Amino acid sequence: MKTSLFGHLAPLTFCFSIGLSAAVLLVSCGSGESGHDGLSIEDMGLTASADAMRADVEVLTDARFEGRETGKPGAYAAGDWIAGRMEALGLTAAGDSGYHQAFRYKPHPPMQVHGHGDSSMTMGMAVVQEIVGKNVIGATAALSDTTRRWGVFGCHHDHLGWGDENSLWRGVAEGDSAMHPGADDNASGVALLLELASRHSAVPMVDHPLLMASFSGEEKGLWGSNHFTDEPTVGLEHVDWMINFDMVGRLRGDTLAVYGNGTSPVWNGILDSCNARDGAGFELVLSESGVGPSDHTSFYLEDIPVLHFFTGQHEDYHKPTDTSDKLNYEGMVRIADFAQCLAQELALQDSIPFTKTKDSSNDDAPRFKVTLGVVPDYLFSGTGMRIDGVSEGRPAQLAGMEKGDVVLRIGDHEVLDMMGYMEGLSMYEEGQTTPVEVMRKGEKLVLDVTWD
Ligand SMILES: [Zn+2]
Repeated sequence: MKTSLFGHLAPLTFCFSIGLSAAVLLVSCGSGESGHDGLSIEDMGLTASADAMRADVEVLTDARFEGRETGKPGAYAAGDWIAGRMEALGLTAAGDSGYHQAFRYKPHPPMQVHGHGDSSMTMGMAVVQEIVGKNVIGATAALSDTTRRWGVFGCHHDHLGWGDENSLWRGVAEGDSAMHPGADDNASGVALLLELASRHSAVPMVDHPLLMASFSGEEKGLWGSNHFTDEPTVGLEHVDWMINFDMVGRLRGDTLAVYGNGTSPVWNGILDSCNARDGAGFELVLSESGVGPSDHTSFYLEDIPVLHFFTGQHEDYHKPTDTSDKLNYEGMVRIADFAQCLAQELALQDSIPFTKTKDSSNDDAPRFKVTLGVVPDYLFSGTGMRIDGVSEGRPAQLAGMEKGDVVLRIGDHEVLDMMGYMEGLSMYEEGQTTPVEVMRKGEKLVLDVTWD
């Protein structure tokens, strides 16, 4: 695994404007002036922001919230805690019951629910229980303020509890359960949202109102954001844009994925100008589509320009190992700075027109019956398909593939990128054995893969 380039002791020369003492920091920025403990003032600001987000992620991933599964006590308790933080930061309650906005959802039968303990049940012909989730929403202005345009920062706080149907963890024995803390997915996004709220309460970042929305029911299928766009607490006709933070805790190097840049003609110019600022310098991986597997989709479908920030897939995704110690908190500070800059640039625009995007439809993707059993590195920009994680007992692992290997060829089919990888897979059937060429630490190896 690539380790963070932003370790605690790394010398930092960036100029950040942060949190409570933003004004002071801006004045002394770049002077390299020393504060306590030999840290420069900008280092101290960075550390304060990173520490605040670390503290929030540690609370949200704590055992008392039990993995925050929608409709379960842990998710409600986490929602109450987020509401408390919003109130302490001076946000106005912007749900329909204080900071909360409840929604009800009946999953469609037949569907298996893998519960545990007493709650274990199978649906189908049996009773389908309604699930009640709660969004948590705060605002920087009164909801009645519709004379000015609104921006929405969003995230989701729900996760998989003790491992719901979306868990990728298989346990050691049948029926095992383990708490899924969801540090990257998506305590990281909540912490980032609260960081922005905190900065705004210290020194308003823009003079138009901001909605800070933490949705629930995302993992079950965007239920909370769907409900919000159906019954918005601020009329959507007053909303200019929505920026979604979902899995923003694992910045590796400078690579940041930003999806949805095709949803308004203003995005590219603003992204470029913020990325040119001190301390930014991201290698942005852009994707135009406004439709993706997270809450921004609900806003895009209402013709609102959206962006989704994402620091990439990893082998702990949807597993009990997605823990708080694995996040890059300094990386999250860089993303918060970037998002703050975007909000400020957006405020300068006369209008933020919406454009529909050509959605990356599954029809274009090759169909395949076999898989390697790996987590691809979707943000890899080199030639081939880089493996970010290998599943136990699946073809890649059985053939001796390792995390970090780059697949260059499947049989005779050259693999230049993800699309080429999928094309390669589409040529084979279960049970066949195929030589697959991979690059490992500068050396090419050919491994025989038996497809399952
Ligand atoms: Zn998720």
